Amino acid sequence: MSDQAVRLLTNLLGIYSPSGKEEDISNFLVKEMETLGFRVRKDAIGNVIGEIGKGEPTILLCGHMDTVAGIIPLRVEKNKIYSRGAVDAKGPLAAMIMAAAAIVKEPTFHAKVIVASVVEEEATSRGVKHLISDGLWTDYAIFGEPSGVENITIGYKGQIQLKVICKTETGHSSTPWLYENALEKAYELWMQIKNSYPPLEKAESPFNAITACLTKVNGGRATSVIPFETEMYIDIRVPPQFTTAQVIDETRKVIAQYQSANPKVTVKATVEDTVEPFEVNKTSPIVHSLSSSIRKVLNKPATLLRKTGTGDMNILGRAMNIPIVTYGPGDSHLDHTKDEHIIISEYLASIQVYKETMLKLSEMHEKSGKQ
Ligand SMILES: [Zn+2]
Repeated sequence: MSDQAVRLLTNLLGIYSPSGKEEDISNFLVKEMETLGFRVRKDAIGNVIGEIGKGEPTILLCGHMDTVAGIIPLRVEKNKIYSRGAVDAKGPLAAMIMAAAAIVKEPTFHAKVIVASVVEEEATSRGVKHLISDGLWTDYAIFGEPSGVENITIGYKGQIQLKVICKTETGHSSTPWLYENALEKAYELWMQIKNSYPPLEKAESPFNAITACLTKVNGGRATSVIPFETEMYIDIRVPPQFTTAQVIDETRKVIAQYQSANPKVTVKATVEDTVEPFEVNKTSPIVHSLSSSIRKVLNKPATLLRKTGTGDMNILGRAMNIPIVTYGPGDSHLDHTKDEHIIISEYLASIQVYKETMLKLSEMHEKSGKQ
């Protein structure tokens, strides 16, 4: 089993699959999963969905096939495999496939497992959104992203992508006292938006703070012209004690105040995208099963993580309203870096943890008499 598991992972890593170019890896996965006993289909946008086993409950293991762009040549060194996607997230994906294929052979296992390998997680989240609109249904879900084999990610922050345009009258740059400068005004407004959120130091942790980052600014026409239009992009991260709507309302108030104090500036703010924050209840059966499986396989207590990033788990968890966690081998600090690698023993241990977790969920379901 371990040779086969390492082979599946190195095969997946050998296929370069940046977001939007998942065709080759998805074709490979369809064949590979069929060989492993899955009933496999590819949906309209290229997600690969494999089902295995039957009965109740249904457990969804969801991972992504795409990576960020940039090739890191595949190399195996002692106990490590280097390649783009080794931790984010082909390591977790391969581990989930191997675990699902193995667990259905256990006589005490009576559940159905769906492994969904989605496209474009690193870009638009189109893959996971399509799973939801397609009506995929499950009782429990694990999202396969690197948390480290001993840790469970139970929460991610939400995200607001805000675009703000400031316009002013323009004139010659030799007469700056006559006109408002749209670049300067936009920056002034940005500082007011940023300072409107409670300071990071006052929050319990960065996870619990609203943070804002100015990510892109466009403005200015020529050296002799006072800038008359500036476009800025602001990325706001929202902890679970708020909704994105609440934060947007507060931010709009700051913008409205700025507008009335600066009648010579025209401000227009547009929300380009939102993802709600998400945190699973610590007492949910999936957290319980995963924690006790980590303890059993690794002989160590599990650590629960809350992350300041935003994941596809947010979208899936909110839309399906089911117990969902993110779990997978690998150190997420290596995501998107040149040093991306996975430790083989950790990858293999995670397969055992996924298996144990599914077995526990199946047993719990039976005991609770739902069958
Ligand atoms: Zn990822």
